[in-house]
Amino acid sequence: MQVENNGSGGNDAIACPRCNHAMIEIQACHLLCGNCGSHLDCSDKGSYW
Ligand SMILES: [Zn+2]
Repeated sequence: MQVENNGSGGNDAIACPRCNHAMIEIQACHLLCGNCGSHLDCSDKGSYW
């Protein structure tokens, strides 16, 4: 799984709004859910397509 907790890294994993799975950052400002495939753009937080 892609969910990693690196101690005190301060790396906030963003949960997928659809399935609550931790999102993978594929680029700056672009997250992908490895579970359901939702995309999330940081310029439009909260919406996904
Ligand atoms: Zn998801």
